[in-house]
Amino acid sequence: MKYSLSMTDQQQAEIKAHVLPADGKEAVAIALCGRRAGATSHRLLVNKIIPVPYEACSIREANRVSWSTDLLIPLLGEASRRRMAIVKIHGHPQNYPWHSEVDDESDRELFPSIYGWMEDDNPHASAIMLPNEQIIGRIVSPEGMFESLNVVKVVGEDLKFYYANTDLQNVPEFAKRTAQTFGEETFAKLKRLKVGIVGCSGTGSWVIEQLGRYGVGTLDLLQKSLRKI
Ligand SMILES: [Zn+2]
Repeated sequence: MKYSLSMTDQQQAEIKAHVLPADGKEAVAIALCGRRAGATSHRLLVNKIIPVPYEACSIREANRVSWSTDLLIPLLGEASRRRMAIVKIHGHPQNYPWHSEVDDESDRELFPSIYGWMEDDNPHASAIMLPNEQIIGRIVSPEGMFESLNVVKVVGEDLKFYYANTDLQNVPEFAKRTAQTFGEETFAKLKRLKVGIVGCSGTGSWVIEQLGRYGVGTLDLLQKSLRKI
């Protein structure tokens, strides 16, 4: 199963303004997310952002934050009714790019009670944001196990993708020239993309061939009648 989290660039900016404030101390926000549970991938889409007020935190330091989870109660009711996901996001102002041991401990304490409110076992997640706006997230299971979100996607003027696995992929023979022209990193990005093409005749067929030669990982082709082929 692959997990992803998507949001707009405005939502990303809103989260950053709250979880990475000018005082250089950690802070938390909760994102209520819609979800699409597929057979092989599970997508979370940010619907609403609820900042945890700074004054509701019993501890706020440069490397830890502690807050009253009573604030979650009204959100849990809504999440349960609408089968939404709770995503806890906190800032790492010191740029530490992993969840810390303190994070592990607090997620293992918090998430079992979140699952306890829900009527299903759909996943919920915990994420950190770094000063460069990068978001790194993980699913926390009801048993307190962690599994990385494969990608966090931010949609705005630009498309931003933050991948858990940044290893460059092997470049197949047919795409070597693309990789040489655009660089291996760009090629790795193309390989991870899934592109939908509506209309597969005149222009579409050329576009499909071109994208295939560029090494785009997955092509979803739709006829003009919008039937998937
Ligand atoms: Zn942390």
